[in-house]
Amino acid sequence: MKDSKKDPINPDALVLEIQRLSTEDGPGIRTTVFFKGCPLKCTWCHNPESIPSHQQVHWLETRCVGCRSCIDTCQNNALSVSQSGTIIIDRKNCINCGECADACPSTAMALLGEKWSVDDLVAETIKDKAYFEKSGGGITVSGGEPTMQAGFVEAYLKRFREMGIHTALDTCGLCKKEAFDALLPHSAMVLFDIKIINPEKHQKFTGSDNRKILDNLVYVADYIKNHLYPKELWIRTPVIPGATAFKENIAKIGEFIAASLQGTVNRWELCAFNNLCQDKYLRLGGEWDFSKSKLITEDVMEELASVARKSGVDPAVVFWSGATRLDGKNKKEGHNRSRLRVIDGKPDK
Ligand code: SF4
Ligand code: SF4
Repeated sequence: MKDSKKDPINPDALVLEIQRLSTEDGPGIRTTVFFKGCPLKCTWCHNPESIPSHQQVHWLETRCVGCRSCIDTCQNNALSVSQSGTIIIDRKNCINCGECADACPSTAMALLGEKWSVDDLVAETIKDKAYFEKSGGGITVSGGEPTMQAGFVEAYLKRFREMGIHTALDTCGLCKKEAFDALLPHSAMVLFDIKIINPEKHQKFTGSDNRKILDNLVYVADYIKNHLYPKELWIRTPVIPGATAFKENIAKIGEFIAASLQGTVNRWELCAFNNLCQDKYLRLGGEWDFSKSKLITEDVMEELASVARKSGVDPAVVFWSGATRLDGKNKKEGHNRSRLRVIDGKPDK
């Protein structure tokens, strides 16, 4: 926890992570601040540790030296050890007090989430200014959901705007309109997720229906249309097997964008599913619904992008990105190992 004087108007925010040299959260090289807490609970979430809006203990196996100090320290009987030596966290008993983390000699047991003041967070992230200036990058606030700590984020973004540094707001869209009123004047661009167009399916996979989210997206587009700032709107759709990766879903999202967002969308990006977060679920002591899901093939991503380009949206704004696996053709040739390929898809000529 940082120890600057408390700001009575913008109390400390809970930050999960500061990620430097990011190239996926807006233009150029960026520093992305992941705030803790999200109103959605997407079953595929790649940052499950960002969902709770409180600090949370987790265990890193590779750092553990097996001393069991954590188990001896916990007064809530929340820790035990399996036969294989894995530390098991009983979430029903754990109150996330952090005493086990204090007792751990090797930082294997640690609390996720750190409180930052606006001054300290600005001072920490402005260190990357040279990268921003060289690359046309800047700061992205993400999460979790940054609008959940809107007062803090407003003060934070405002400081960067005053310094002439590019700012991006990455949002799931589920918040009060007042949060957008506070943040949009200080955001050069908005990254807005549309995951599933059907409200019932959205409810099933994220824990909330999407009516408020779509309503907010129209509000943001309208704001952009009538103000000089923000200048850009990017829509992002995670392509998740069995949840969002359906032609009908992509087509209907495209129809919504074309009909409701007044030509304000500069980019619609289909983001391929990846399974790099598996380990995070294990560290938190849970299981991931998508642990057995394979990466999507490049052919499927191309097919969905083609559907998007024919949905009524300007085809030139449709892109896809992310990791893919080799397709059926390659399997027949005996090269069926999954591999990672990061591709920035180009629109059809
Ligand atoms: S105190 Fe740390 S190193 Fe020791 S058993 Fe617990 S997690 Fe492992
Ligand atoms: S955070 Fe506190 S309650 Fe939870 S396991 Fe550690 S010592 Fe026990």
